[in-house]
Amino acid sequence: MPYEAGGRLGAERASKLSHIDVVNSPLVNKLIEEFEHPIDLESLGEINLENIPEDQKVFSHVFAVDGSIQHIDSGQGKVLRQMAFVKTALYRLDQNRLSKMDPFAPHPLAIRALMNESAMFHATVFPLRNIRLGQNSVYDSIREIIFESLNDPKLEDETFSIFETLKWLAYQKWDGKTNRSPSFQCPHCERDIEGLSYDHDKENCIHCGQEVYLSDMLGFHLEMGEDSAPGSVASSYMMIHETLFLFAGIRYLWQSGQRDLFDKCLFLKDGPLNLRSQYVKLIDPIRNFLKFAFEQGTIIYLCGQEKTGMFVDHLNLISRKLKPNTYFIPDNDYIRSHVQQRKAEEQYGYRTNYGNKLFVKIGDHHQMVIMIATGSYKNSKSKDDFIGFDRIVGTLKYFLSFRHENALVPIEMAHGVASLSTYPSAQIFRLFANL
Ligand SMILES: [Zn+2]
Repeated sequence: MPYEAGGRLGAERASKLSHIDVVNSPLVNKLIEEFEHPIDLESLGEINLENIPEDQKVFSHVFAVDGSIQHIDSGQGKVLRQMAFVKTALYRLDQNRLSKMDPFAPHPLAIRALMNESAMFHATVFPLRNIRLGQNSVYDSIREIIFESLNDPKLEDETFSIFETLKWLAYQKWDGKTNRSPSFQCPHCERDIEGLSYDHDKENCIHCGQEVYLSDMLGFHLEMGEDSAPGSVASSYMMIHETLFLFAGIRYLWQSGQRDLFDKCLFLKDGPLNLRSQYVKLIDPIRNFLKFAFEQGTIIYLCGQEKTGMFVDHLNLISRKLKPNTYFIPDNDYIRSHVQQRKAEEQYGYRTNYGNKLFVKIGDHHQMVIMIATGSYKNSKSKDDFIGFDRIVGTLKYFLSFRHENALVPIEMAHGVASLSTYPSAQIFRLFANL
């Protein structure tokens, strides 16, 4: 990487000559020659295509979540200040209204009306570099912002509160026991805390006596330094908040005592059903809840659509093999050897996923990677491992968008609500950032 420009001297430029050196290197040339051909479709062997179930009952309501981030730099002066705005949205689409719209050329005003009516959103802001909240360090500011933001007063109705949903998951409140939260590392003394006592929002660390929040259990502090935080803290917050938003809806129905409503609802996430790195603390509670509900006779229809990444690339590779209205469930061996092309001791997604993946082709033109919840971890080989498989896969065709390739309308709508275009312009942010 070349050096960046300072106040006095210009940036280093990558020399064009050095590119020629690289191409002339005998070692590089030998390696290039030895690269094998791109993976060819035939080497994948047979893939086990199944037909998409037909005649499934359409969901009358679809809840979809999405989020967006805007990073702002104060571009002037020597000290770079940086902050990030995060927005998440939960959107409800009624199938009845959707079915009345023209799928190929929906009227923009009709779309706007659909979008404005049934959405909730949440927004917050993080200082990433050289900005503090009062006397606090960036490290403590962000811990406090996360705690406060999860308690967003705009969503303060307790039946829908995001923080109450975090508590509901962390303490696994559905099982009637007084469980502790998952264990975590103290953000002050770095020693292990065996979870907070049941139903507590915060508590004092048993080792150092300083105050810790339930939100510290999620592990944001593990990716921060004392005076700066990487932009990934904001995207991690978005990931956690999207998940909690979706489960706030699920908890709302679960606790309302009208569990038959789950039969009418599909919960749809933009992106995979997973949490990454240290944020996996909620994976076990989520799996436990879905399994618990299933065993109680309540099917929770939960699905994520993956729009980028390795699995989507793989879908493009195998798309010629997919016949219209079929799906293919890749098991662990297939994923490790053909999608990721790496060996690993652990089963794929064992720590991070609360659903499994499949490749779906709907009609002649739409294909997608989706994830469906499984309850406990499973190395799926058949649709029986998934919760609510037939109805989810069999009814995706009713939610296809004809405006964007391989898109689902509820996710498009949630994206519209969460998208950056509904922020004040970046220019206005800069005015504030430079104060
Ligand atoms: Zn401590």
